Amino acid sequence: MAVKKTPAAGKTPAAKPAAAEKTVRTRRAAPAAKDAKDAKEAVKELKEKLFKDYPNLWDKASTDDVESAYAFAEEYRRFIDLGKTEREVVIASIETVESLGFVDIETAGKVLKPGAKVYKSIRGKGFVCAVVGKKPASAGMNLLGAHIDSPRIDLKPVPVYEEADMVFFKTHYYGGIKKYQWVSLPLSLHGVVVRGDGSKVSVCVGEKDEDPVFTITDLLPHLGAEQMARKANETVKGEELNLLVGSLPYGDKDTSSRFKLGLLKLLNDQYGITEQDLVSAELEIVPAFRSRDLGFDRSFVGAYGQDDRVCSFPALVAVTDQEKPDKTCVAILSDKEEIGSEGNTGAKSRLYVNFLSDLYARTSGGYDEIGFQKCLENSKMLSADVSVGYDPTFGSVSDPKNSAYLGRGIVLEKYTGHRGKSDASDANAEFYAEVIRALESAGIPWQTGELGKVDFGGGGTIAKYMADYGIEVLDCGVAVLSMHGPFEVTSKIDVYYTYLAYKRFIEAV
Ligand code: MN
Ligand code: MN
Repeated sequence: MAVKKTPAAGKTPAAKPAAAEKTVRTRRAAPAAKDAKDAKEAVKELKEKLFKDYPNLWDKASTDDVESAYAFAEEYRRFIDLGKTEREVVIASIETVESLGFVDIETAGKVLKPGAKVYKSIRGKGFVCAVVGKKPASAGMNLLGAHIDSPRIDLKPVPVYEEADMVFFKTHYYGGIKKYQWVSLPLSLHGVVVRGDGSKVSVCVGEKDEDPVFTITDLLPHLGAEQMARKANETVKGEELNLLVGSLPYGDKDTSSRFKLGLLKLLNDQYGITEQDLVSAELEIVPAFRSRDLGFDRSFVGAYGQDDRVCSFPALVAVTDQEKPDKTCVAILSDKEEIGSEGNTGAKSRLYVNFLSDLYARTSGGYDEIGFQKCLENSKMLSADVSVGYDPTFGSVSDPKNSAYLGRGIVLEKYTGHRGKSDASDANAEFYAEVIRALESAGIPWQTGELGKVDFGGGGTIAKYMADYGIEVLDCGVAVLSMHGPFEVTSKIDVYYTYLAYKRFIEAV
């Protein structure tokens, strides 16, 4: 105890100098505090000037902005519920633009004046529309390019088989899916079948409340020990994605394949099709549920196939909003992005650039090769595709300093690709900075990010195929959670500001 008291007593002699010090401090207090405050303010200002921060838009947005975002999400949800496949999006897009005065470019005049609105269906699976601008086409066009195909499950050419008194479709998945996510779900079937006589029938089963649905069965956990020990990419194997479609036999017990016959008879009665017609058919299996508001506060949209309809829709609206833009503006909604933009409906297809050259010819008093090449060279494009949103549950795959976050606006990405930027279209600094200036000057917030940590994986978009033509291209779009899953998540405020950003690009770049 005594030992403790000694230092306390020892403090007493020091009391006087302390008091003197206090006096000095008091005298200088006011200017010191002011200096400190000024210095603090200067540091704050310097930080504001030099640092770039990416605020949450729910904080930043006005009540009107939030209302607009929720209203835009309603429109967006209606659109994506109408179009779950590339073909359905094309149909919905044609209906939308025709109601706004767009005409098929094939039926439009040979000379298109500023304000003319045209569109083209790319074999029913891709779509392009444009509003002619006041400047000559040689000044270049402003393009917004998104894709309208989504990961899904297709049918094999010989799909129908029966086993254990049930009928199934053999399938082949399309795009990058985690196969285990697609079992034990209500699924719908969409697409077209061309009959032997050349006539075409559309199929869409599983979307209306009164429709039946389909499913891919999964193993019960009681007997799942062997399955659960498999690696996740084999938990459900490709050949196990068999769609359950029926169980009513036709004929008596002696009839062979009577369950398959029952199913094919039903399809024939209903659609006039045979097993042979299924060989060439394009039937796509997608989740049967519709988009939903997500969260107590309804701040998210949950839906299948938001990659990339969440960029397609804002791109389409941004272009159809235009009456007489400065430069001709074009929305390109392409197919087959999820498998590499292949085929004549994918972004690599000549058909998209054919539309641009047709548009060039009709707005430039005829076609000339050098003039059109010049037009491409002067054209600018936003490759409108989704990016990964930072998911705190799986944060270890992302660099938090270089990630996009839900609620922080459109994601601008200089490059995509994988490993050492392989397969990336790396946007030119000059063009990228021009887009940033356009957004900043209109007060449109944006963020940036990469598709995960370096060497953790990666991905691509249509950017590089359009860049091949000499067009300036920048990747940008909405951040998504659960990308490529049956139920993807986006933030309503991001969707709305992405639309504003696309519109700004058309009008200001
Ligand atoms: Mn995509
Ligand atoms: Mn994708």
